[in-house]
Formats: sequence, C-alpha cells, structure tokens
Amino acid sequence: MRGLMMDRPLLIGALIQYAAEYHGDTEIVARTIEGPIHRYTYCEAERRAKQLARAFKRLGIGPGDRVATIAWNNHRHFELYFAISGIGAVCHTINPRLFADQLRYIVNHAEDKLLFLDLTFVPIAEKMAGEWAKLRHYVIMTDRAHMPQTSLPGALCYEDLVAGETADFVWPEFDENTASSLCYTSGTTGNPKGVLYTHRSTLLHSFAICSANAVGISMRDSILPVVPMFHVNAWGVPYAAAMSGAKLVFPGPKLDGASLHELFMEEKVTLSLGVPTVWLGLLQYLEQTGKRLDGLKRVTVGGSAVPRSMIEAFEEKYGVQCIHGWGMTEMSPVGTLGLPKLKHLERSRDELLAIKAKQGLPMFGVDMKVVAADGKVQPHDGKASGELLVRGPWIVGAYFNDDQATAAAFDEAGWFRTGDVATIDDDGYMIIVDRSKDVIKSGGEWISSIDVENAAMGHPDVAEAAVIGLPHPKWDERPLLIVVPKPGRQPSKESIVAFLGDKIARWQLPDDVVIVPEIPHGATGKVLKTRLREQFKDYRLPTI
Ligand code: AMP
Repeated sequence: MRGLMMDRPLLIGALIQYAAEYHGDTEIVARTIEGPIHRYTYCEAERRAKQLARAFKRLGIGPGDRVATIAWNNHRHFELYFAISGIGAVCHTINPRLFADQLRYIVNHAEDKLLFLDLTFVPIAEKMAGEWAKLRHYVIMTDRAHMPQTSLPGALCYEDLVAGETADFVWPEFDENTASSLCYTSGTTGNPKGVLYTHRSTLLHSFAICSANAVGISMRDSILPVVPMFHVNAWGVPYAAAMSGAKLVFPGPKLDGASLHELFMEEKVTLSLGVPTVWLGLLQYLEQTGKRLDGLKRVTVGGSAVPRSMIEAFEEKYGVQCIHGWGMTEMSPVGTLGLPKLKHLERSRDELLAIKAKQGLPMFGVDMKVVAADGKVQPHDGKASGELLVRGPWIVGAYFNDDQATAAAFDEAGWFRTGDVATIDDDGYMIIVDRSKDVIKSGGEWISSIDVENAAMGHPDVAEAAVIGLPHPKWDERPLLIVVPKPGRQPSKESIVAFLGDKIARWQLPDDVVIVPEIPHGATGKVLKTRLREQFKDYRLPTI
C-alpha cells in the first residue's frame, strides 16, 4: 500500500527561498577581492540570485546547461550556487589550482557554456581561453569600476548582469533527481572524474550534516567555511546554512591565521570548517600572538587525517570543540565523524582523544563495509583491514560521461570503492590505515604519483621513477621522488627537479629526490609502493 503523504521535490531553489522568507535579515558577510568587507542578508542574496536567474535566460542558458565558476568563497559565488542550480542548470565549480591539462580537460569534458570567474583568476582564463571550445561567455565577478583590461572575448561584468534584470522570478519546480552541480575530483590517477550531484542528494546531505550527530548547524551559528566552494561545494555548507538560516562569513582569498582570526572575532563566528593545513596556520598565529578564540565553539577538520595534537590544542588550549570528519568528493562529501557517544564521555582523556582522532562513525544514510583482498567482508573488530566501500543516497552512482572510470569504481553489488584502506571497530568507528589509490594529499589538494613519475621518467638519465607521500607537519603529505638512474648515468637531484619544473605544477614538485640502485617490484612487475613506504618511513624531508 502506498502512503498518502505529499510527494514534494527536494530542490535547491527552495533552500534560498526558505532562508529569504524566514531568515531574511540574517547576514551574509564576505571579504572581497576588491578590498572591503561586503555585508548583506539572505533576503538580498535571494533577490540577486533571481536577477541572475533571469540573466541566464537572456544569455541562452537553460535547464541541463553547465555553468562553470572559478571563484573564492564570496557572496557572488554563493548567489551563483542558487541561481544556477535553481533554474535547473548545473553549477560546475572549478579548482583553480589544477594545472593546464586538467583545466583544459574538465571544461571541455563538462561542455561548459558559461564561465564566471573572480578577478584573481582572469590570467588563468586568458591563458586557457583558446582551448575551451564550447565556452560562449565569460563573466568577471566584479563591478564596473573594477573591470580589468582583458583579452577574454566579450567579457561581461557580473554587477552589470545583475543590475540589468528585475527580481520578478519564481523558482521553478522539477524532478528532485535533476543534476544540480558538478565537481571533478583528481583524487585518483588518470583524468579528473566528474561527480554530478542532484538536488535530492544535496538536500539529503544538508539535512544530515545539520544534525547534532554531525556538524550540528543551526540558526544560532555564524559559520565561516574555509574549505573552498570549488572543493565539493565547501563540504555542503552553503546549502546547509541556507537550510538552517545560519549566518555565513566568507573569507575570500585570505586564508592566513591573522585574516581568519580577525573575521572570527569581528563576525562572532561559532563554527568554521577546513583542512588541517589551514588550522595549523591559525594555531601558529595564536601561539605567536597569544590571541584567543573567544566565541568560536567548534571547528570541523577533514580532507586529511587530523593529528591528535591539533585536537588537543583546539579543545584544551582554546576551548573549541574539534570535529574530525572523513569524506570524499564522491560522497557530497561527508561520510563519518569522530564524535564520541554518550558512553564514551566517562572515558579517560586519552581514550576520548583517541576516539576523536578516528575518522569516525557514519551518519545515518551512509553504509560502510571493509572488504579484504579475497573479497571477504571484514568484521568490526578494529583490527581486520581492507578496502572501504560505501553506498547511500548522497554517494556517487556513476561518474559523469566516463564509462571506464565508472566500471572500475563499483563492486558487483553497486557499492562505491573509496580507495581508502580502513578498519571498523566494535563501536562502528572507522579508521583509515592506508590508501590503495596512488595519490598524495598535500594541503587538501591531490598530487598524482603517476603524473610525477611519468614526467620524471622523461629525464634522459632516469630509468625508473616512483613517488610516495611522506608525512609533513604543515602539508600533511609531500612527495618524495625515488629514482633509478640509467646504467652509467649519474643525474643530480637538482637536474631532475629542474627537468620537472615545466612539466608539473610548482606545488606538485617533489620535496626531495633519492637516487637508488633499484626499486622493489611485485609479481606482476608493479612497483611495490607498500614496500617503498616501509623502506622510507623514517626518511626526513629537507622541507620539514
Ligand atoms: P577529496 O575527494 O579530494 O575530498 O578526497 C577524499 C579523500 O581524502 C579520501 O578518500 C581520503 O583518502 C582523504 N581524506 C579525507 N578526509 C580524511 C580524513 N579525515 N582522514 C584521512 N584521510 C582523509
């Protein structure tokens, strides 16, 4: 028997409409690239999103079209999130740190028609414009007074676009499974893969992260997302904030300790979210200046494992709850949180810290299983490890137009392979113990070992190259390049790094190069990365 409740779609347009109607005077604050702090309300944000929605029509953008952004966390980017998805188009957020080949690939693969970009990123777009075949318009996210001289063909001004329209617009209704946003992940080898979220997945994820078993977002919060809006929709925070009527504080391009601290204090921020590298910068700044974090109640740290010392510093020195989260672009992104249960609260300080340092317990909606190499599902005993697979309503079901990547990403029962190696303990807490994907995560951004290895292999004196990630206090991981020279050749470290200089992005260059007579191989001839990681586990990078 079917139930008799209304079948109303879960839509992103409804989020901003709700925020404007019931939290209309709640503030959205942004540090702008032009300089001053911009301040307005949900009511005004919705009005401008509606004006943009009308402008899209004039520019020939409609449902299903991909509209790209390359932008910092700011109020204009926030408006675009709702204006683009709200009309049924797809908001494709692009990570400006990708290198040229990846930028070329993703804009063409997504078939973006329109690109919005912050002033900072105009030079990147100018370099790439000739290679982005289908882009019809560029819109620079600034006002007329700050419009730069640019070679971008027919570049439009954001504020002119908004001002040219009225707000006479009603958010349309459509199927909640309609695509809403698109984010490419380079967290695996090969070409970046597109994760195409739906309105439904976005709203379900928002409900989940708002819950007290997760980040606990409410209308009494002032939230500063440091995690970029070009990285998995800033972990879903802009949507969850609109859903709960929380104040939003956007940091723009300034993510250093001093700038963040200033906004925390002035905007009475209660919750902030970001990767460990950002928090390390903030903690160092506090240490140097003796400043405090009064008012800040919790930080959510994810994207890489949180060092226990960071949890200790936030909680014991500054009285700020530290919430450790794990997730992936493919998971919208939040999957688990290292939050203690009621029964844990009586445990010793050390035991509690150990629980908080775990990747944690899944939110309702995320199913997890750990599978050994022989396909056996491992018990929840905190010891048996294997690859972690997940499924759920906000987890990717297929990559966007990429059958090959899709075929490799799921098991026979349709569970998604995370490429993380984990254990699950008898309380259900997941701990990541290794990674089966061959990538390095530096400051929240991926470096593909294979890309660096292939580039190094092009050096005339190099016979074989392997790259592994080594722990780094600031960046979490940095690459070490291990090289076997060709017979009779003796390449210097410097010549290898110089050779790589124009082949990979500067921040992806290895921190050190080690020359060895041979690299270990497995039975199938593959480099044994596990053996190399073991061999170099005590190696100290010169950058530490
Ligand atoms: P991304 O899709 O770029 O967000 O990266 C997702 C991947 O980052 C995961 O599969 C993990 O390998 C890693 N990751 C994310 N959060 C954590 C965490 N809390 N601890 C350890 N690794 C993490």
